[in-house]
Amino acid sequence: MKNNGSAENKFRSGYVAILGKPNVGKSTLVNFFLEEKLSIISEKPQTTRDAILGIFSDEQCQIIFVDTPGIHRPTTPLGRHMVSSAVKAGEDADELLIVVDAATGITAEDREIFSICKRAMQARAYLWTAMIINKIDCVAKPRLLPLMDACRGAVSCDDYIPVSALSGENCREVLALIRQKLPEGPLYFPPDQLTNKNERFIVAELVREQVLALCREEVPHAVAVEVTAFQDNPGRKTLIKATIYLERLSQKSIIIGEGGRMLKDIGSAARREIERFLGRGVYLELWVKVHKQWRKDEQFLRRLGYVPEI
Ligand code: GDP
Ligand code: MG
Repeated sequence: MKNNGSAENKFRSGYVAILGKPNVGKSTLVNFFLEEKLSIISEKPQTTRDAILGIFSDEQCQIIFVDTPGIHRPTTPLGRHMVSSAVKAGEDADELLIVVDAATGITAEDREIFSICKRAMQARAYLWTAMIINKIDCVAKPRLLPLMDACRGAVSCDDYIPVSALSGENCREVLALIRQKLPEGPLYFPPDQLTNKNERFIVAELVREQVLALCREEVPHAVAVEVTAFQDNPGRKTLIKATIYLERLSQKSIIIGEGGRMLKDIGSAARREIERFLGRGVYLELWVKVHKQWRKDEQFLRRLGYVPEI
């Protein structure tokens, strides 16, 4: 790589916050950028509980994506933490992406997020702000133009870009713009690191994702997963033990299922995802416990990594 000192050859790096209501496709977008399954994608809202960073590195730049949890009206400590970490992620970043869903159009929930974004934009001079209109694969072209106009009217950003995070349409263009607008900066993380979350946390999220995927409507917000053992055995499979916490006894029997079948299905699906993520063989042991008030138990939330230490 030549280095003649011109601006184009300086290393660029920075934080990009991605804000949007639950289910707009924030995690899918970051995953497309990283081509790696980092944030947990689910059809149910609020599966990404914390600002999981995805880190994109190459020779010229490092982009740290802050994939914020959905912003909603908080009623529990976990809810309050989700909102405050989303807002904080937005305020600390160099660039801001606001994601909306073309299929739903702009909703009241979007407007709440817009007002948080506007406040953040007043507090901070972002190097680039963009509204990403996602899921354009779901809408007919004639509906897109009025939607883009509505977006322009709602928040004033530098760019408004229709994309499909699922098919990848226009996503490379977004990535190119993100790179262009980054400031000069250092390598914040080792170039081979993809996330700041430790493997335990991601493994727990992968288990939780399968619980949500396989147990449909019964338990969306009532599940927490703690990895209690993570043992690498040279030459053998990694042993992972995880406990699934639920709020009610009735949920416990749903998750275990008839003759333990549901838990077995959750276990094998989760094991496949974990093996894919870790790139090695895994023995996964799952346990199920009831903890009635886990969402209100700050200490418990901290232990599971949902609340930052600071
Ligand atoms: P988040 O809550 O904002 O992080 O949303 P996710 O990335 O978890 O996506 C929520 C759901 O929307 C998932 O089922 C995704 O597959 C789906 N999704 C995301 N992007 C697109 C898209 O561009 N088109 C379509 N049709 N679905 C999408
Ligand atoms: Mg997400």
